[in-house]
Amino acid sequence: MDNVILDLDDFAENKENSEECLQLLLEQKSKFPNLKVTLFAIPYYLNKDNSTFFHSIKYDWIQFAIHGFYHHLNECTLWDYNTALQNIQTAYNMGCFVKGFKAPNYRINKGTIEALNDLGFWVDELEKESKRSYNNHPWRVHGHTWNAWNGIKQVIERNLWNENTKFHFINDIMEK
Ligand SMILES: [Zn+2]
Repeated sequence: MDNVILDLDDFAENKENSEECLQLLLEQKSKFPNLKVTLFAIPYYLNKDNSTFFHSIKYDWIQFAIHGFYHHLNECTLWDYNTALQNIQTAYNMGCFVKGFKAPNYRINKGTIEALNDLGFWVDELEKESKRSYNNHPWRVHGHTWNAWNGIKQVIERNLWNENTKFHFINDIMEK
């Protein structure tokens, strides 16, 4: 592919969600210096503030966007507008995320979309309900940080990019 927007879900302070993923990304970066990746990271994975861990990963080719709050199943369908506003603001104030959001399993309600609109976030979502919806971009390469059928390892094995590929952050695409 000439252009790639790589995004991976479920980055968190947890061995399975970060260790191998980071190692593989660093290997890819050494082979393909243009590499950029958007990691959808879980602010309070296992009910714990993960931000110190996220802050410890200081690479200008990695951006973090917000992926739920605890990553409980359906959590973003259960929030009312004010809860959504509070949770998203709490996560954003950790200081490690761009203004981008994806709900766990893409399951999101109107109140959460409204809160994200009011906070000026773009949203990776299926229903195109947000004012700034990131949805099935032709350059999109999507996967997971852990060992899923579309885990980072499996994504790399597909050989989708080469040394001439231009990589883009979702955030850069959404600024335009
Ligand atoms: Zn997820």
